[in-house]
Amino acid sequence: MSAHYVIDRKGCVYALVPEEKRAWHAGVSYWAGQAGVNARSIGIELTNPGHEFGYVPFTDDQIEAAIELCRAILSRHAIAPCHVVGHSDVAPARKCDPGELFPWRRLAEHGIGLWPNVSSPVSGGGDAAAPEGTSARGAASALARFGYGVPPPWTCRWKR
Ligand SMILES: [Zn+2]
Repeated sequence: MSAHYVIDRKGCVYALVPEEKRAWHAGVSYWAGQAGVNARSIGIELTNPGHEFGYVPFTDDQIEAAIELCRAILSRHAIAPCHVVGHSDVAPARKCDPGELFPWRRLAEHGIGLWPNVSSPVSGGGDAAAPEGTSARGAASALARFGYGVPPPWTCRWKR
């Protein structure tokens, strides 16, 4: 396990692996058409006991440092802000960090990542004629287009 950067709870940023070298933070992973995210990403970890050992809110200092670091990285590399994602996005079956307490909205306000701009929640119930995102099939295909490694549910691998 390694990451390019670790941010502790006081907001100190530790640069552990040069950005041009590979760090081992994502494991078996997939994003935007390619498997093996470690080969083409910059990994940041924020210290937190995590879900297994007592998940706690991130500190303001951590989040401010993360925003500053992400902005610096985005200024150095041709990375679209929407491709700043969580380990749970690239390896959803194995990883749950940074988790539900990570303030993605606050990062999005600084041009990092994405936050949905939805005035009312989409409702619907699995009808094939429903708008995309309201059926399992539509949701899977929307997630896949976005970058997630979601196998379309209609490719039924046990009916070959
Ligand atoms: Zn992680």
